[in-house]
Amino acid sequence: MSRQSGLQFYNIRFVNIVEIDDDNRRAFFKELCELFRRVSREYIDIFKDRPILAISPTMADGELNDFELRCFLLPSDKKEKFSRALKLGSPGLGAAGTTWRSNHGTVSEIYVDDKSDSLGLARISFHEFMHNKLKMGDEMHNDFDVGFGLAREQVSSERSIFNRSTAELTQKNAVVMAKALMENVPQYKGK
Ligand SMILES: [Zn+2]
Repeated sequence: MSRQSGLQFYNIRFVNIVEIDDDNRRAFFKELCELFRRVSREYIDIFKDRPILAISPTMADGELNDFELRCFLLPSDKKEKFSRALKLGSPGLGAAGTTWRSNHGTVSEIYVDDKSDSLGLARISFHEFMHNKLKMGDEMHNDFDVGFGLAREQVSSERSIFNRSTAELTQKNAVVMAKALMENVPQYKGK
């Protein structure tokens, strides 16, 4: 089979409630792109006849296809106040992020404070995107087939003495995400 020409554009739209400054945002997006680059590589291997994916995280508002992703960045100390997941019926919130499937679409959100580093934010948002695309709840954390790594619960809270998130993306994580990436999971599109 030969690969179709061209690129499939893929937006990951972030809604910034917490005001991350430009430098931090750039560093965060760079780390996130690095994680998704590994997913793209698996995607190319699995779907040899599909266009190559151009995945770009953005703070810009705009159209969102049903296969694309969205995530709210909320202030950690006011997460209950600003949580879209709670508003949409989630019974509780995770330590560093929450994903909730509602009648108005799936919502992912992560909680940011001044100790959040760009790598940690990238890993936490990737973890929430795994819940989002794999349509899995807490059972994802210990699912052998999802491959632990960034699927582990501790990705959000377990930190080394240097205050860095210590969980790494595994190849299995990248493969399951590659398989799920183009599946339609309509996102919550509200404010
Ligand atoms: Zn989780």
